Amino acid sequence: MSDPFDLTGKTALITGSSRGIGLALAWGLAEAGARIVLHAREGGHLDDALEELRAGGHDPQAVAFDVTDRDAVADGVGRIEEQVGPLDILVNNAGIQRRTPFLDIAPEDWDDVLATDLTAPFVVGQAVARRMAPRRRGKIVNIASVQSTLARPGIAAYTTAKGGIAMLTRAMCAELAGNGIQVNALAPGYIATELTRALWEDPEFSAWVTGRTPAGRWGSTVDLTGALVFLCSAASDFVDGQVLYVDGGMTAVV
Ligand code: NDP
Repeated sequence: MSDPFDLTGKTALITGSSRGIGLALAWGLAEAGARIVLHAREGGHLDDALEELRAGGHDPQAVAFDVTDRDAVADGVGRIEEQVGPLDILVNNAGIQRRTPFLDIAPEDWDDVLATDLTAPFVVGQAVARRMAPRRRGKIVNIASVQSTLARPGIAAYTTAKGGIAMLTRAMCAELAGNGIQVNALAPGYIATELTRALWEDPEFSAWVTGRTPAGRWGSTVDLTGALVFLCSAASDFVDGQVLYVDGGMTAVV
């Protein structure tokens, strides 16, 4: 019997995969058999990520562009399809955070967060879906957050963007399902990465996360890979427009 989770022969672009969650997601898809295209901006840790996967026996490619630059996105997606091959999987993972009280948010910080965390998944998703649609197959996973459904003080722009990701996912499902493309969101709980350094280095906040999460701990990046493989594989061919929370139960309880 064939393995419904097997990704052999599939090509996957994971945005923001030079470190943190994106790099772990790239590992997960690589271990399931996919050919990986790593991605981040120029000048970051892309080369380190490439080396890491190569040392693990994989053969990843890498492409650098800023997801907030529409021309760079179009060019980057075009280069991947010409040089690596047709994309079967897109994971919209690149994201940023700015922590500021609502009354003090600067317009440029609001714009940066919305541009990276909400508009860019649309722009990259549209560029990739336009190529997937004529092929009548594809899997797109948008990385959401517990903040897609829960707010807390100090992160209004991020919460707004991640809430938007839940509805962008449904909108993409509504329009792309007929083209054989499934679009879902994976919503992590609190995971210790560079993005959350200020939180896990704060003993009080860290204890709050542990206490607020039924599983009683922070998540690890590896906690997310099984759910991603599921959403990128044939096992989820009739799963569409859903937000899958991988959060140790945080959004299930008050
Ligand atoms: P990190 O800060 O560790 O990694 C972010 C990645 O995105 C890096 O590879 C970074 O590369 C890339 N990136 C950021 N901005 C851009 C841009 N404009 N263009 C291209 N690449 C960019 O974050 P995490 O791994 O923690 O987060 C990954 C995703 O998971 C985000 O969408 C985040 O919102 C989400 N998430 C994280 C949670 C957590 O607890 N950590 C919880 C829920 C969701 P570079 O800077 O080199 O370009």
